[in-house]
Amino acid sequence: MVADEAVVWFRRDLRLADNPAWAAATTGHAGVIGLFVIDPRLWDRCHPRRVIGLAGHLAALDHSLRTAGGRLRVERGDPEVVVPAVARGRRVYANRDVTPFAVARDGAVGRTVDLDLFDGCWVHPPGSIRTASGDIHRVFTPFHRVWSDLAVPGEAIPGDATIATDPGLGVPDHEPATPPTDRLAAFERVVDSYHTVRDRPDLDTTSHLSVDLKYGTISARDIVRRIGTATPGRRAFVRQLAWRDFYAALLAHHPDTVHTAMRPEYDAIRWADDPEGLDRWKQGRTGFPIVDAGMRQLTAQGWQPNRVRMITASFLVKDLLIDWRLGERHFRRLLLDGDTPQNVGNWQWVAGTGADAAPYFRIFNPVTQSRRFDPTGDYIRRWVRELAHLDPPAIHAPWEHDAVPDSYPHPIVDHPTARQNTLDAYRSAQGGATDPKTP
Ligand SMILES: Cc1cc2nc3c(=O)[nH]c(=O)nc-3n(C[C@H](O)[C@H](O)[C@H](O)COP(=O)(O)OP(=O)(O)OC[C@H]3O[C@@H](n4cnc5c(N)ncnc54)[C@H](O)[C@@H]3O)c2cc1C
Repeated sequence: MVADEAVVWFRRDLRLADNPAWAAATTGHAGVIGLFVIDPRLWDRCHPRRVIGLAGHLAALDHSLRTAGGRLRVERGDPEVVVPAVARGRRVYANRDVTPFAVARDGAVGRTVDLDLFDGCWVHPPGSIRTASGDIHRVFTPFHRVWSDLAVPGEAIPGDATIATDPGLGVPDHEPATPPTDRLAAFERVVDSYHTVRDRPDLDTTSHLSVDLKYGTISARDIVRRIGTATPGRRAFVRQLAWRDFYAALLAHHPDTVHTAMRPEYDAIRWADDPEGLDRWKQGRTGFPIVDAGMRQLTAQGWQPNRVRMITASFLVKDLLIDWRLGERHFRRLLLDGDTPQNVGNWQWVAGTGADAAPYFRIFNPVTQSRRFDPTGDYIRRWVRELAHLDPPAIHAPWEHDAVPDSYPHPIVDHPTARQNTLDAYRSAQGGATDPKTP
């Protein structure tokens, strides 16, 4: 055992490069133990596809540690018990997370060990960007203005501490995930057209870095440094990382918004009790091709492009009038990048219940969205095989062209009627408004 040894507790920062907790521990101590705790409360509830993905990321981190002469130590159990047992008086370094679960866990662990928290998961840490009066921003545009003007913090450079070699239980047996730098390099070749094509699900030209960002296999700051803002495409892309910071900052400040509307009047909405509608949405059998394509992709791959997430989420909330929390839970479980701050923030945006959300009266028409963003119908054709023989315009709304095959459902709602019901429900909830939640 090295005399001056610290523990780095990895959670959603599974990398050595530009990792502030790792850099501080490896420069401030002669030795470090790199620890990952498999917490059964999270691991055992995860969708199997996510467990497999995480195992690949842990194998990749272990590989990096081996290259540096050590191992990743993996233990299983409640971190409140496991972290102090591994630390045995050593100082523990970690990067901060903002979910209520993580904050409570770290608070509990911090009562029994010396826990130093750093900010390695965002470009600018939650709470660091404030209005002139010192409040947190509720509106994205001014947040983004301040965010863009701030210099990106310099890279956190690791020191040369000796890395412990005890693997504990060892990483789950899995091939290391492909390095995120490969995805970033591939995306760099097309980033300059990002602003013109990012909303086209048929083209699939976005970065696919959200899973890496969720597990921190790459640093968000590093991405911003590498991509820069020299062209409209690069600026549009980096702006999306500001949205990510914005939602993290909101959740850090309003942890209750995991379960409650950011605008409390909307907690009074009388949501439909419609298990069949919810089920048809999950199965991708609503009769609206773009919605069904998205939900089938989610089931098959744990993925949906951003525009399709907006369309499918909007359909659940604004066409079926089903509580956004049920959709949020379903997405969080199935999405490979399922991430509480981003998922809650975006669901509340779509539902019109969040900070700087889409106004409640702006209701997506799924057919118009489909025509506009999947103009050739290629995305629908890929996922809804029953409609593969159709071309536009029929593929977007087969019932309007007498082209619904026997194997495919007719629309489960009439969009104009559903729209009106939703407007009524939101208006009546506004009538019962209570004091607005201020940041
Ligand atoms: C209803 C709904 C639920 C969502 N749930 C999640 C989620 O659980 N996890 C998640 O990471 N993203 C979520 N998003 C945001 C967005 O859809 C994904 O980040 C994006 O599609 C991931 O693909 P990409 O990495 O190719 O994105 P790119 O377009 O290449 O964007 C780069 C990065 O910017 C960030 N980003 C992009 N769009 C957003 C956004 N709208 N909000 C916040 N950050 C963004 C992501 O980190 C993303 O990886 C959700 C969006 C909606 C509408």
